[in-house]
Amino acid sequence: MPDIKAFGQPAFVSPEEERLHRKQRLAAAFRLFARWGFDEGVAGHITARDPERLDHFWVNPFGMHFSRIRVSDLILVDHDGNVVEGNRPVNRAAFAIHSQLHAARPDVVAAAHSHSLHGKAWSTLGRLLDPITQDACAFYGDHGLFDDYTGVVLDLDEGKRIAAALGDCKAVILRNHGLLTVGHSVDEAAFWFFAMDRTCHAQLLAEAAGKPVHIDADMAALTASQVGNHHAGWFGFQPLFEMLTVEEPDLLE
Ligand SMILES: [Zn+2]
Repeated sequence: MPDIKAFGQPAFVSPEEERLHRKQRLAAAFRLFARWGFDEGVAGHITARDPERLDHFWVNPFGMHFSRIRVSDLILVDHDGNVVEGNRPVNRAAFAIHSQLHAARPDVVAAAHSHSLHGKAWSTLGRLLDPITQDACAFYGDHGLFDDYTGVVLDLDEGKRIAAALGDCKAVILRNHGLLTVGHSVDEAAFWFFAMDRTCHAQLLAEAAGKPVHIDADMAALTASQVGNHHAGWFGFQPLFEMLTVEEPDLLE
């Protein structure tokens, strides 16, 4: 197996170049979410922080199907929720949650949320995920639980409470709602969302069949450092991005 650290993340010569890169990854992430069935009506949003205006973020236009989103369709929202680039509306829930996450976590470049089936089903249990598989260890000690449900998130205080439940972690389970993941890149946030929904699915299957054996704490922590680091999340997205840009090059328009 190659040393994944040998594959470097890109460096940028200008903010314009970095912005375009983030937007391309963001458009691709939406299309992957559609492929994975993470779209449900108009629910769900992924945000990418602008590389220059750090309190602004790029997001999907409200009501546009994830499978159709191109780079040129993405909208830029400021810290007050105003759309400052693009002429389509923003989902107010997306702004209420994501603006507070981006404010609370300066290290976070991107955040992803959707009502994916397995994440949604798992969220009803009000429990953290257990380290029952190698892949689940990516979330060991690295996800929080927002143990409350108060309707569609439309106010900023609720976004702040979700940010508090996330803490320094890569993900948070929103009880009776779904999953939310963050990353140091769009690639990472999107890949963790995919991995976390799969992890929920695996634990639901395992617990339906019996009583899964837990990986012991020391080994789970070691595995978390191997499969759950920022670079591993970024790297997991690369083959998906390559596949998608070959099959659906119009996403880059
Ligand atoms: Zn939601």
